[in-house]
Amino acid sequence: MKQNRLASVDQKDLERARKYIKSLRNPNCREDDVFFQAMEEVLLSIAPLYLSDPKYKENAIVQRLVKPDRIFKFKVEWMDRNNQIQVNTGYRVQFNNALGPYKGGLRFHPSVNEGVLKFLGFEQILKNALTGLPIGGGKGGSDFDPKGKTDFEVMNFCSAYMQELHKYIGPRIDVPAGDIGVGAREIGYLFGQYKKITSSYEGVLTGKPFFFGGSLMRPEATGYGVVYFTEKMLEIEGKKPLEGKVCTVSGSGNVALHAIEKLYALGAVPVTCSDSKGTVYDPRGVDLDLLKELKFEKRVSLEEYAGKHPESQYIPVSEYPKDGHAAWHIPCYAAFPCATQNELSLADAKALVKNGCVSVTEGANMPSTPDAIHYFLESGICFGPAKAANAGGVAVSALEMSQNAQMMRWSFEKVDAELKDIMVHICTNVAQTADEYGVTGNYVDGANIAGFKRVADAMIAEGI
Ligand code: NDP
Repeated sequence: MKQNRLASVDQKDLERARKYIKSLRNPNCREDDVFFQAMEEVLLSIAPLYLSDPKYKENAIVQRLVKPDRIFKFKVEWMDRNNQIQVNTGYRVQFNNALGPYKGGLRFHPSVNEGVLKFLGFEQILKNALTGLPIGGGKGGSDFDPKGKTDFEVMNFCSAYMQELHKYIGPRIDVPAGDIGVGAREIGYLFGQYKKITSSYEGVLTGKPFFFGGSLMRPEATGYGVVYFTEKMLEIEGKKPLEGKVCTVSGSGNVALHAIEKLYALGAVPVTCSDSKGTVYDPRGVDLDLLKELKFEKRVSLEEYAGKHPESQYIPVSEYPKDGHAAWHIPCYAAFPCATQNELSLADAKALVKNGCVSVTEGANMPSTPDAIHYFLESGICFGPAKAANAGGVAVSALEMSQNAQMMRWSFEKVDAELKDIMVHICTNVAQTADEYGVTGNYVDGANIAGFKRVADAMIAEGI
């Protein structure tokens, strides 16, 4: 049985911490719900450290850390294929640059608002700190939906978005990357427009295609990193490796696809993938080539998968279990939520544990609800939280920045070896920190404390 995350903290101090977090919240702003969910998890996690060392309180670190340095919100006007003018909202949240230039992806999705980006930016600060690399935390995006748009429309939107964004970014200031809805195509258009406006060919965005300054392995980095992290976590916790084991994965985007690819490389059998409309369960293992064709070439729904593989099952969202997601009700050894936030509920967590799952690693940002995480920790299964486990993407983004600054290109093998080293280091550091603070095996607290310490110490050293 893992130790409960808050066992070592005085209940009165905890109550005070909860009250403080509540006081920060504007109850009329529902947009901020996910931001407070993320913030609460971190603040309660770091309580043992915060209460044991007065320097954090003396320097008002919590009050300073939960407020972004600045948020840019702007109008994006662009022309669609019918020559109609469309209007969207663009954002960039520059959260904290104590450790280096703001760094974090851009998300293009109709669900994007200021609250979602504050949650992602806040998580990014600690995630980036865990990599050990010199990068601060930020996030951005738009409520623009690239789905169903032509390349021409996506290009028009990206150009218009960059028309405003270029004022706030730079290779030593803020270096955006991709996220949901922003892949190599979007990064290419954004980069092209930045170059046109500034006449400067510089590493201002990461996730660029390789032939104009991208790093090899950036597309694979998050998914591969998630699996490297899991391997190490299983080793530290004395569990069997992934070879020959059935794994379940959600999502069918960049992270899910490459997690599946690496699982196959290690001899595991990933049997599920999903998109926003449904889940595919293929007991013989997901057909990776078909997945790439459907989601990256044709950009269509996974429904077509079952047409090509009649032995597989397609489960539409309307048939998901109550309060749950189909993927987490299929027995597995290790589970990998890799689609989006809050996609793994308490009911899902219970089903996973009941069916014998020994390990859950978060590829997406905050995919598990707080009560699901609590259940995993209480059940004593290995749980790799997003900010540690999916840091491989941003780590390779930082390696892309190094390569751009040096005007160099590293081989696939070199970047892969660096990525593996970084993921092993993150996992070991998180496990050791959890041990040090009396919550052995609790990677949530270990990650929050280790990340917080690095950022907070830099903030103190830099003064106000
Ligand atoms: P993609 O856009 O490539 O893929 C997202 C996947 O999630 C798609 O399968 C999409 O389905 C599905 N999805 C999106 N929104 C929802 C929703 N509301 N309900 C159900 N399914 C949904 O994104 P990525 O793979 O890049 O990112 C996935 C997650 O990983 C995100 O949480 C992101 O923040 C996180 N992440 C990504 C990193 C990266 O390097 N790309 C780095 C670190 C974290 P559909 O095809 O139907 O839209």
